[in-house]
This record gives sequence, structure tokens and C-alpha cells, in this order.
Amino acid sequence: MGMNEPKIIDLSHTLSSDMLVYPGTERPVFQWLGRANSEGFNLTRFTMLTHTGTHIDAPKHFLDDVICIDEIPLNKLFGKACIFRNNKKLKGQEISLEEIIASGFQLEENQIFIMETGIEKYAETKQYNEIFPYPSKEVIEWLISKKIKAYMTDATTVDPVGTKDSLNHHLLLGADIPIVENLKNLYLIPKDKEFFISALPIKLKGRDGAPCRAVALIDFE
Ligand SMILES: [Zn+2]
Repeated sequence: MGMNEPKIIDLSHTLSSDMLVYPGTERPVFQWLGRANSEGFNLTRFTMLTHTGTHIDAPKHFLDDVICIDEIPLNKLFGKACIFRNNKKLKGQEISLEEIIASGFQLEENQIFIMETGIEKYAETKQYNEIFPYPSKEVIEWLISKKIKAYMTDATTVDPVGTKDSLNHHLLLGADIPIVENLKNLYLIPKDKEFFISALPIKLKGRDGAPCRAVALIDFE
């Protein structure tokens, strides 16, 4: 097979004990269980929430008797993707279907959809959790009708701040569409070029979500 080495763009935030996390949640905790200069090896224990940093929401996040993180078919989280890039000022506003259509955005069926809200500029600041735009219900219903494989975004959630019903989560996860949140470096993905995305979760049995290492793969041949 004449397949060349793709260029890899890292789309993941670094997990650390002082990272910004979702309001009201705890940061990851890391602890040395062994050190090379005493025990002869370095070994870490870490504890963290399943939804901290760049991570995947399985349908199990909001529903019961549905697919868990270890059961998501991996082809939903690996494949061709297309990005809608919001270039309006960020003020926690709704992104409407009209503005997506008017931008000339093209979406093929069975692709991964990426919503670049632009909030990444505010990574590690308070505003990151406050002023991200979010898609309207009509946008989500349109994406479901287009059979997207997964919904991925640079924002920390797909619902507005302070939502009571988490409607967008319910709609996507109810349609068996996994959600990837807190991507970064989306601006490094070249415009008008085909690319693949890979965002595979660690395999936690029967759980609601998991951290992932997300990457874009460019220049496949
Ligand atoms: Zn989540």
C-alpha cells in the first residue's frame, strides 16, 4: 500500500494538577508511589474525573441502559471530519442553523463534525468556562439528520452555561452520537484540506466517559 506518514496535530490539553477544570469539579491528583532514586523506578498513581480535560462523553453520561465508554464503536471516533469555524465575538451566544448554512458550510453524511467555537483562545482563564458559544437545538437536530458519527468541540460543553435540562447532550447521546469536549489546536488544521481525526478513549468498563488523546491526521495519501 502506498500510504505515507501523515502529519499529526495534537488536539489535546495536558492533564496536570494545576489545570483549569469545570467549575465545581476537582483537579486531577498525581502522587509518586515510587521514585527512581529511592525505590529504583518512577511510578505514579493519579485520580481524576472522567470528564476533565480533552475527553469523551458516552451515551451513559446522561442516560442509563445505553452504550458505555468501552462499547462505543471506534469508527465513530476515527475518520474524516469537517469543521465549522465560528468567527463571531464570543459572548456565550447560541450558534444558529441559519448562520451555519449561510457560511456555505458543507457536511457530508457519516463524517465527524467539529464545532470550533473559538474559546480555545481563553484556555486556562476563567472566561473559558463562561463565554463559549453553543449550538441551537436546530443545529443538533440537523447534525443528527446528517448522521454525524461524533460531535467534537473546543468548548467544555455543548449546552449553555447554567443549563437545567442539558438538551443538546440528551439529543446527541440519545442518538448514540458520542461527544468530544475540550479540544485544542483546531486552528492549526489547514482550511479546505481533507483530514482525519482520531479521539480514542481509554477503555473503562461500563463508564460514562473517559479522557482521550485527540489528534488530527493531515496529508494522508
Ligand atoms: Zn463530558
